Amino acid sequence: MSNLDVTSFIGGKPVRGGTDRVVPVINPSTGEQLSQFYEATVEEVGEAVRAGKEAARTWRRTTPGERSDLLHRLADLLRDNLDEFARIESLDAGKPYTTAREEELPGILNALRYFAGAARSSSGPTAGEYIENNTTLVRREPVGVVAAITPWNFPLWQAVWKIAPALATGNAVVVKPAENTPLSTTRFVELAAQILPPGVLNIVHGRGTTVGEALVRHPDIDLISFTGSTRAGRRIAELAAAGPKRLILELGGNAPVVVFDDADLDKALPTLTNAVLFNAGQECMSGTRILAAEGIYDELVRELGEHLQTWKLGDAGDPDTRLGPLISEAQLGHVRKLVESRPATSDLIVGGDAPDGAGYFFNPTLIGRLDQTDDLVQEEIFGPVATVQTFSTEEEGLRLANDTPYGLAASVWTRDVGRALRVSRELEFGNVWVNNHMAVGPEVPIGGFGASGYGKEGGAAGLEEFTRLKQVVVSLD
Ligand code: NAD
Repeated sequence: MSNLDVTSFIGGKPVRGGTDRVVPVINPSTGEQLSQFYEATVEEVGEAVRAGKEAARTWRRTTPGERSDLLHRLADLLRDNLDEFARIESLDAGKPYTTAREEELPGILNALRYFAGAARSSSGPTAGEYIENNTTLVRREPVGVVAAITPWNFPLWQAVWKIAPALATGNAVVVKPAENTPLSTTRFVELAAQILPPGVLNIVHGRGTTVGEALVRHPDIDLISFTGSTRAGRRIAELAAAGPKRLILELGGNAPVVVFDDADLDKALPTLTNAVLFNAGQECMSGTRILAAEGIYDELVRELGEHLQTWKLGDAGDPDTRLGPLISEAQLGHVRKLVESRPATSDLIVGGDAPDGAGYFFNPTLIGRLDQTDDLVQEEIFGPVATVQTFSTEEEGLRLANDTPYGLAASVWTRDVGRALRVSRELEFGNVWVNNHMAVGPEVPIGGFGASGYGKEGGAAGLEEFTRLKQVVVSLD
């Protein structure tokens, strides 16, 4: 199999999708087709779930230590193939090769090793006589078969953050990657087939409304771990209600960056540049909604505008590229439309358009003097674009920061410790940074509030999402 082949794996065997619906896979740096696949049928989705259910009977009886050993062996295989995975993500998802190889893939490997080990210790209430003359003990068990549905912006990262904790806690998995970035997850599942028992990890390919929904509807799926748009998350929650099935929903974001006038701008500027441009801004935690105290606005927009133009834009395969393309023509259209429909009263500081040539690139863009009700402020942009508004008091800054439906991530920039803690307490977001942005690790639970979803990924809380508690009450008579 070439690493550009897109094949389902069901019960450990490669399976070509059985419909005649062909889905193209495009290189976003060039707009050229890289690969294609036939979408899976509803029956094939059912076979994958059945394979998972069958395999889970044995897998759930293995010890955490045995599962950990297998996941570490899989991590070793990933480690030996990091160059290949960086190339695949670069071609398929438009990730700058050097960033993928030096930052994203080592991060994925680190997460896989964390999840492999973390499930060896678990917590819960201790056994005891809570009811007179009875001993109660609480068992933590796997839920069964997990559907993992992933987005295109972090294809392998998101897949591993779902697959690894689910397997480590004794579940079987059926993963459905985003239809436009299926390559890295396919290759990962192919590698895993060398190590894991057949059926423990299955993959099916297709679009969300067909294969994704078939998976969500399947009666033998016990939990759905979904990362993607709020729109699709709502639909999945509706379908899951029929079970009802357990859900982890990691949805969209629109992170505010609240910069007070005592902020250390020398420290802030490189971090904010990364928060705006990393992954071409296609990051659910991107710091695109900057709120600047009036006293610091002019200096901030001038200097950030300059910083945003220092990242080399180009083909994601070029090792010098830091700013790659957007994922698709549709995404480019979405970003362009939002930027072009900015109000006449706003202030375009840099960018605002796409460079000439092939591929789905957009120039780094900074737009000032926007109002809270503008679409550019309220909507998730998902491009290399940041907006800057001003505020005059701490209270106003907080009100603007909290005033969108999303609640995933936020940052506050100040040297005043009391203010940093006060503002962190009041921000309605699941991930808050002080004098930093987008610093995450697998040991700490990530997850949003409001329209950004619910449930956690990472840390002990993230592992526990894939388990259920059972009380066993034993009479002492
Ligand atoms: P998307 O919702 O279009 O698709 C995500 C996945 O869901 C894909 O695999 C797709 O095929 C599938 N899908 C779509 N509709 C479905 C349905 N009705 N039933 C079942 N599956 C369905 O999202 P996207 O455009 O691929 O990803 C970008 C979005 O993901 C952004 O909104 C971003 O903020 C969000 N995201 C969130 C996090 C987080 O941790 N909160 C992380 C990364 C991305």
